[in-house]
Amino acid sequence: MSTSSSFPPVYTEAFHQASENLRRTLPFINQHQTPVNPVNYAVWYEYVAGNNQQLKKAIDTRLQKQQKITPELTQKLYEKYVLMGLPEKLEATNNGLRLVVDNTMNQINKVELAAGDFSDDLAIQQTKLEQTEDITEIKSVLSEILQNTRKLGQSSSDLKQELAVTTQEILRLRAELEIVKQQAKTDGLTGLLNRSCLNKKLTELCHEGEKTFTLGLFDIDHFKQVNDKFGHLLGDRVLQYFASLLKKHCHNQSHIAARFGGEEMAVIFIDTPAHQALEIADIIRQQLASSNLKKKDSDETIGTVTVSVGLSQYQPGDTTLNIIERADVALYESKAAGRNCITLR
Ligand code: GH3
Ligand code: MG
Ligand code: MG
Repeated sequence: MSTSSSFPPVYTEAFHQASENLRRTLPFINQHQTPVNPVNYAVWYEYVAGNNQQLKKAIDTRLQKQQKITPELTQKLYEKYVLMGLPEKLEATNNGLRLVVDNTMNQINKVELAAGDFSDDLAIQQTKLEQTEDITEIKSVLSEILQNTRKLGQSSSDLKQELAVTTQEILRLRAELEIVKQQAKTDGLTGLLNRSCLNKKLTELCHEGEKTFTLGLFDIDHFKQVNDKFGHLLGDRVLQYFASLLKKHCHNQSHIAARFGGEEMAVIFIDTPAHQALEIADIIRQQLASSNLKKKDSDETIGTVTVSVGLSQYQPGDTTLNIIERADVALYESKAAGRNCITLR
């Protein structure tokens, strides 16, 4: 499956599923006569894969109104929903920084020029003073020096002011950049880390090969039915609720929770013995099963929502792929055993 909001996007469909998506993508590309280039393909591929809910909604809304999906529109959808608008935000921050640097350089150049003029004038005035004894001329030269000194003082105070504004602007841009960096790591719906970040962390851990860790995959049971019965918006709120349960139990640096994709979440339990990871994961499973989830602004319950869990412990020599595959097999076993249960491999 592809993740719904990961930058850069991570596609993990198996060969067969990816080929199936290709087969379903091409008719859309033909129908809307968008050239088969990477941008158009990515948009329609994510549309048929179905996990990028926001992209799917944006396209469906247009299709319902019988609007044409033009190449210009696919380009916009690609930037907004596949790249999550991040390149645009980075460019805006970059432009802001460039502007700040340009303004500051201009101001510094002005002061430099003023200081150069002042020093030239001073040399001339010094010669004049050395050569005259006429009190009126001495007075006039001194008044010129005083005037120039004031001007220089003014431009240096302008520079000081400009630098104070610049410092504020740089601090603002730095905070903006921090937000963009954070957004690039975060899943928009749940606020958990995104798939691309989870992959990076797993790769680091496997590469170091020093810490013992356990990967847990959590897949909500029959989630399609929840969406079908109560709508996608409520489905989204269930995902947010489940993410909040994960956050509650993963509050320290050694438990890292992420959205794995769609209705699947993951936790890396670092430096935590497998039996302890299993205990924590099972508490999360039980808490979801015993939550009495209700529709917003109503007492109507949506019934029991459960989750199946697969855990795999890191074995020396494991790659990211190995450990995910083992957790996935364990998850499959939990599903096959009747769901709402947990398996460790
Ligand atoms: P199983 O117990 O075998 O896991 O069944 P399932 O219905 O949970 O699994 P399936 O893979 O058939 O369906 C997953 C559904 O999750 C389909 C997809 O529309 C939905 N989904 C994926 N991402 C989101 C999302 O961001 N929001 C909502 N509301 N639904 C999502
Ligand atoms: Mg699933
Ligand atoms: Mg599921």
